Amino acid sequence: MAEIRVLDKHTAELIAAGEVVERPASVAKELLENAIDAGATQITLSATRGGIAQLQIVDNGSGIEAEYIDKAFIRHATSKIASAEDLNHIHTLGFRGEALASIASVAKVEVLTRTEQDEYACCYRIAGGEPQGTEPGARPVGTTITVNELFYNTPARMKFLKKDASEGTYVAETVLHAALSHPEISFRFIREGKQQFMTPGDGELRSAVYAVMGREFARDLLPVDGGNGVYRITGLITPPRACRASRGTQHFFVNGRYVKNRTMMAALENAYKGTMMQGKFPGAVLMLEMPADLVDVNVHPAKTEIRFARESDVFDAVYRAVRTALTTPGSGECRFEMS
Ligand code: ADP
Ligand code: MG
Repeated sequence: MAEIRVLDKHTAELIAAGEVVERPASVAKELLENAIDAGATQITLSATRGGIAQLQIVDNGSGIEAEYIDKAFIRHATSKIASAEDLNHIHTLGFRGEALASIASVAKVEVLTRTEQDEYACCYRIAGGEPQGTEPGARPVGTTITVNELFYNTPARMKFLKKDASEGTYVAETVLHAALSHPEISFRFIREGKQQFMTPGDGELRSAVYAVMGREFARDLLPVDGGNGVYRITGLITPPRACRASRGTQHFFVNGRYVKNRTMMAALENAYKGTMMQGKFPGAVLMLEMPADLVDVNVHPAKTEIRFARESDVFDAVYRAVRTALTTPGSGECRFEMS
C-alpha cells in the first residue's frame, strides 16, 4: 500500500476550489452574490468567450478596505459571520468565505475597489492563489473584479467545460436569476461585447421580468400573492392561454435564492390542471418566503437544490397561491372544469 500523505497546501487548495468553481457560471454566481451583499444598486456583468476568457463585474457597493483586501482572498475569511452561532441567522447570500479564495486559485484575478473612506482606489492582483501585489488606482466607491483565464492552471477542469456559447448561456441564466430575485437592483448583462439586458432597478418584479424575459412574456402575467401559514408566495405567472412548450420559463426562489425544486414545480403545474392543453407548461417567477429553519439551503455550496423540512406544506402553499391567482376575477378567461 502507498504511504498516506497530507497534501501540500497548493494541491489541497485546488481540490477545495473545485467544490465551489465548476464553470464560469459558478464564478458569476459568487461575484453577483458578493455585489448584492455589498449593498450595490447597480451591477454590470460582462462575459467574454462564455466567461472562460474573462468575467468582469462592476458594482457600486461598499467596496473593500485596502488593508483587508488580501484577507478577502484567504479561505474561510468573511466579513459576514463571526461565529458558529451566527450560522443560525444568516441574512446575507455569502457566509462561507470561500468564493474569492477558490476563484483566485484557478484564475488570474484583478480587484479594483474603493470605500467611502478611501481617497484612492486600490488595485490588487492574484493569480493561481499567488498574490501579485497592490497598487493605487482610481474609481468611484464600489468594486470591479476581473477574472481572466479561468482554469488556466487546471487543464483537467478546462476539459470538462462545454463550448463557449453553452457556458455563456449558463452565465446568462445566472444573471437572469440575480435580476429576478432583486428587482430593486439594476442589473446589466453584456455578452461577447453586446448588451443583452438591463433591468431598471425600480423594485418592481414586473419590470425586471419585462427587461430580462421580454415584452411578449411579461405582457399578461398574473400576480400571485398568497400562501399558507408561515409560507408566503408572491410572483408572476402566465395565464393558461399563454402557456408554453417547455419549462424553460419557470423560475423559483426561496428566501431570495434561486432554487431548483420539484415540489414547487409540481404544485405550480397541478394548480393549472384543467385549464391547459396537455404537453404545455406554465411560465412562472415565484418567490417563497419562509422560516429559515424549515429549509436547508446548505446541501452543497455550488448547487441550487434545497431540502424542505415539510414538503407537503410547501406544496400546499404554492398550490393555493397559484390557484387563487388563476381564479381571481379579472385574471383572464380562465375557467376550471370541476371534477
Ligand atoms: P463570503 O461572501 O462568503 O463572505 P467571499 O470569498 O465571497 O466570501 O468574499 C470574502 C469577503 O470579501 C466578503 O466577506 C466581503 O467582505 C468581501 N467582498 C467580496 N466581494 C465584495 C464586493 N463586491 N464588495 C464589497 N466587499 C466584497
Ligand atoms: Mg461570497
